[in-house]
Order: sequence, then C-alpha cells, then structure tokens
Amino acid sequence: MTGWRTYTFPVRRRAALVTMLSASLAVLAACGASSPVAVERSRELADQPTTDPTSDSTDPTTDPTGPTSDPTDPTDPTGPSTDPTTGPTGPSTEPRPPSDILDVGNAKPERSYDDLVAATVADLEQLWSTTYPELYGEPYEPLEGGVFPAYPERTDPVPGCGNDESSYPDVQAYVAFYCSVGDFIAYDDGDDSLLLQLSEELGDSVMGVVLAHEWGHAIQQRNGTFAQDPATIYTEQQADCFSGAWTARARNGEVDGVEFSDADVLGGLAALITVRDPINVSSQNPGAHGSGFDRVGAFQVGYLNGFARCAELIDTPLPLVPNELSPTGNPDGNAEWGDGPRGILTIVVGDLNRYWQLVFADQEGGFPELTIVAADDPTNVDCAEVESVDDGAAFCPSTNQVFYDAEYLRQLYDQFGDFTVGYTLGTAWSEAAQTLLGSPLSDEPRSLLNDCLTGSWVNTILPENGQPPAGTLASIEPGDLDEAIQTVLLIGDEDAEENQNGTAFEKIDSFRDGVLNTLNTCTDRIPD
Ligand SMILES: [Zn+2]
Repeated sequence: MTGWRTYTFPVRRRAALVTMLSASLAVLAACGASSPVAVERSRELADQPTTDPTSDSTDPTTDPTGPTSDPTDPTDPTGPSTDPTTGPTGPSTEPRPPSDILDVGNAKPERSYDDLVAATVADLEQLWSTTYPELYGEPYEPLEGGVFPAYPERTDPVPGCGNDESSYPDVQAYVAFYCSVGDFIAYDDGDDSLLLQLSEELGDSVMGVVLAHEWGHAIQQRNGTFAQDPATIYTEQQADCFSGAWTARARNGEVDGVEFSDADVLGGLAALITVRDPINVSSQNPGAHGSGFDRVGAFQVGYLNGFARCAELIDTPLPLVPNELSPTGNPDGNAEWGDGPRGILTIVVGDLNRYWQLVFADQEGGFPELTIVAADDPTNVDCAEVESVDDGAAFCPSTNQVFYDAEYLRQLYDQFGDFTVGYTLGTAWSEAAQTLLGSPLSDEPRSLLNDCLTGSWVNTILPENGQPPAGTLASIEPGDLDEAIQTVLLIGDEDAEENQNGTAFEKIDSFRDGVLNTLNTCTDRIPD
C-alpha cells in the first residue's frame, strides 16, 4: 500500500478545474413544456424558486414561429397510431442536413467548438430518428425549429419562447434552452458566454454535453412527458442521462466528426458540477435540476447504461440526495476548519472511527481508534509503509495513524468546502478497513473500493427527513457530496489506461455506489 500518488492531471486543466469548480456560476433551471428548459443564473433560481420569468406569459397562440406551437403536444406514446415495428415513416422522419437545422445567423463569431456543434446537431438528429421509435414506439419528428446560436451582433431573428422573438439578453439569461413553443434550441454564443468560458477551460465537449441535454427535452416534448407535468428534477435527470448516453457514443467513436477522450468526458462531468443547483434549493423545487451529485449520477447512468435506461427514469426516478440545509446545522453547511468540537477534522475523525468500529464490532480485535497527523513534509512521511501524502492522506498500518497534507486540505476546504476533508480522510479510513478485511486488491481496484467504502460511511450520515441522523457525530449537508466529487475530479487518473486511482468518472461511480447501495455492495467486490 502506498499513499496517494501525486496528481497527474495536466497543470493547465487542473488550474482551470479548480477555478471553474469553485465558482457555482449558474444552474440549469426553469422548466416547463412551454417555457425555456434552460440554463439560468443561480441567483434567479434562489430568489424566485417557483417562477420562471417567461412561463406565465407563454401563450402558444402568440408564437409566430411555427406549426408546433402547441405546448401540449399531441404526440402520445400510447396512442393507437403507433406501431413499434414499423419504425420511422414518412418524410418528416428523414434527418435533415445539419445546415438546415443549425441556423448560425448573419454575423456568427467564430468559435473553436463550431464544428463540434454542427457535428453534434447532425448526430443527434440522426440518432434520435432511429432511437426514438425504438424507445417510444412512434416515429420521430425532426426538430422543427432548429438550433440557434445567439450573439449580440446577430440581427437574424432567434425565435421567441413566449414572446415574438428572443433577444440576445433573453438567451444569455438562460445560457442554453429548449423551447417547446417553436420546438427549437438556442444557446448563448456571445463573447461573455458561460458556455464559451466552460469550453475554453474544460474543453469543447461541454457544448456536446449541453446540446445533448437540451435535445433530451425535445424528446420529452415529443413523447408527452411534459404533458404529464412531472417535477422538473425528473425531466432534468433524464436529460442529463440522455446527455451521458450521447457522450458515451462520442467517447466510443460513434459520432461522425466528434471524438471524445476521457478528458473530454471529464470536462462534461465538470461542467455539470458548475451548473448544479445552488445549495438549499430542494430537489422538489419546481425549478430544481439537482445537486452536482445527482446530476453527475444521472449523466453516469446514461453513460454506462445507454438511452433505454434513461427512458425509464421518469417512471422510476433515480434516488436523490437531500439538498436542503438542516435547520440546526451551520448556515452555509460548512463546519469550521481545524480541531475543536466544531472543527471539521475532529468531526470527521470522530465519526469515521464511530462508523468503522461499528462495522467491525463483531470482529476479533475490532477496528483501531485511528488518529490523524499533519505531515511536516508531505513528501516524506514518518511511516514505514507510506512514503508520501502529497495532495492527500494515507493510512499508516504500523502506527494506526492517518497522515495528511494539511496545506493541501486547507486549500481544498477554502476553495470548495468542508467535505473535501471528509472525503479525503474518509478514503484513508477506508484503506484501513480494506487492510483489516484482508483485501488482496491493489492499484485501481483498491482505490475504487476505497471510494465505495467511503460512500458507505456517507450513507450512514445522510440526513433523515431533514434532520441529522441519530447517533452520529457528523451529518451530510447540502453541497458536501458535490465537494467530494470536486475533490475526485482533481485526483482521478487522466485516462482510463492509467489504472492507478481510477478516472474521476470511475471514482465518482464507485463512491456513488457506496452512498446509494451501502457497505455490502462494496465488500462484495473483495475477492475471496
Ligand atoms: Zn434541462
């Protein structure tokens, strides 16, 4: 066993991730069949949790843009005319060339992602023309209105969503949206666009992830999901899932003109964290899109299981973690830095010992009371089995101590929040548990199991009915699980071939498995 390896993600990207991840810039927000299904600034959601600025004013009859102006779209997946065996029929199911769908307008600024956007649009249209009939048993109607980049210089009109025309500020406010009135997608393509910023920092794949998400809302409009008026969180989860399924296509080389690397997939994941809901917005809030943990989870379900699994998510939604602060907790959900009864180090250490001693209560010798030691020199630790805890923490079996890089943890705490500490120390306790369990795993499988075991601890400290769990020293607050994910994004292997820590994608998946499915799902992975 060794301590955590030094992080190997490229420096530029790492710095970018830290910057982007620490700024919760915006959230995908405000849904409804006839309102923009969109990215919206977080402030607006926090201030106006239940009102979409355009939803009340949306009158399909005032929409000049087109034939599909009825938001209660009549396409009914259960209707008599559908025959799953016939597949697409008629001229409307012929995919149009991307130039017909993508209306770039008269003065489009050149962007590095332009080709990717065109290829993505063409692929989504083609893909859904075959996937939609398979999933929903009726022909796919092509995206009627098209896709519109909006920028201040544009004088060619962008369709309105409840008004005659979308102004540039209208689109800018939402960043990107699908509107069922007119059946179109618009995105902010201006110089100050959040999407431009994200694509520069995280990679152009962000654009594909966003477009695939918005297209998912067009699918929901077609199959009558919006007409059932489910809570926004469920339509958003499904759109994230569809986006993940499409991203897997791009990663597997199935999208003409788009080739995603593992880093591109990671960029898409990171973008979802950036656009998560702000903390203290209930997932049942009418405009909620979910915490980063929930969003990334839905994306991963799609990535790993494909479109058909996503199609089930409206009727059988994924579990959601609470995103509301407990009334008795800290105002921002963060414990103080450091030791002392209210300090995050003391809380985490105490609760990790509580949990693991409980788990090992029936085993001879039980689980030792581990203590933490701030390493004087993180690259040269005073432990026979551990060389370095640079940018992390590690369990020292010969002394039952956990050494940690205090400066690094403090930096993570300041940048993201207190659960960066919880996750990092949690994996060191998991390593101790794995050692006691006699796990023969090494390298990536061992590291991933530690993520899972850490998740199993987290499962026991999730709040119950808005209250901290009974009998624990720690309680998960909104934002905590996103902080774990933010930490993971910084330490995962750069690509899937590396097989040391696991990629961020694999680590999040494993952590999430532990959180949602508890201890046995983790220990089952240990070979006899
Ligand atoms: Zn959405």
